[in-house]
Amino acid sequence: MPSRAASFVRPHLRTLHGYVPGEQPKVKGLIKLNTNENPYPPSPQVLQATRQAVDARLRLYPNPSADALRARLARLHACASDRIIVGNGSDELLALATRTFAEPMGSDTARRNPSCATIQYFSPSYSLYSVLAGIHGARALAQPLRADFGLPSVRDLGKSATWDPRAALTLVTTPNAPSGRGYPTSELETLCRSLRGVVILDEAYADFARENAIELALRYPHVMVSRTFSKAYSLCFQRVGYFVGHPDLIHALHTVRDSYNVNGLGQVAALATLSDLPYYRRNFRRIRATRERLRRELTGLGWSVAPSEANFLLARPPGPPAETWLRQLRNRKILVRWFRSPEVSGFLRITVGTDAEADALLAAVRRIQS
Ligand code: PMP
Repeated sequence: MPSRAASFVRPHLRTLHGYVPGEQPKVKGLIKLNTNENPYPPSPQVLQATRQAVDARLRLYPNPSADALRARLARLHACASDRIIVGNGSDELLALATRTFAEPMGSDTARRNPSCATIQYFSPSYSLYSVLAGIHGARALAQPLRADFGLPSVRDLGKSATWDPRAALTLVTTPNAPSGRGYPTSELETLCRSLRGVVILDEAYADFARENAIELALRYPHVMVSRTFSKAYSLCFQRVGYFVGHPDLIHALHTVRDSYNVNGLGQVAALATLSDLPYYRRNFRRIRATRERLRRELTGLGWSVAPSEANFLLARPPGPPAETWLRQLRNRKILVRWFRSPEVSGFLRITVGTDAEADALLAAVRRIQS
């Protein structure tokens, strides 16, 4: 029986399931390959800059719009800083985007034109999108990817009941999660050109890929690219992400965000990161090399592993169901991710860790299979 207090919650939120993050284990000694964190620490320069910022200034508010960081990011992407907004992780910016670009269902505008209240995305992709659409009370459309996790053609999308070329907001995870499949910029450009609303290319894993689509955010007024310092730059703890896009879209997001949305130490750490990019590029190369080795060796053990341009692999184990594998690996102190949704429930998503972690995973797999 729901309590009286529960009746204060807006009706459409009462039964909503929130986003389920990967387990952050309390037990020591687990090999954590379940949340796509980077196995390598932030650079020594970043740690030093962060430590040095822990002083009396903690009592002060940070720069409200992360100006120094935006200027630095603008230089990196060869654009003006009014094309950049920084957020408390890219998750915050994705949530802001739903509130900024999509109407809730039931608004007058949405009643006249349901596309204004439509948020669409591919399935499978980042599972937060459907939650954000649900929270906002938007109409959510989940368009299945092809069986090989490729993008459907614009022609096929035109015939699909789960796609709306006029949707207020389209979210594309590229490279895709959880499959790891990368999409060429030319294909993304064709997709973007077929859409009338805002498109966000969520490039959380782009640093591990062959291509990125930043140029589309600089060329098309309705396209934005989302990036994060979490994965490639070993800063999950600090919560820093950003969008690149047209100044008018960025301006609207700035209007909607909290005044001090990016914490001060996060700004310091992200700035120091951008001064030490060669350190990180070395790590990308190591992670890509480990990824390819792990893929080869798992394939040799009878696993079916999709090619990946991210820092994880989506792998179908042989024999027992993937959920059983999840438990068996956990019993051997290795944590990977399993998703219940039917398109991927036969797979495990395995974060690419260090070479030693890959060896431990392979040893555990061999023992389970023997
Ligand atoms: N996009 C994708 C595709 C992700 O997997 C994640 C991490 N779960 C994010 C965005 C959010 O990253 P963050 O909020 O740490 O920037």
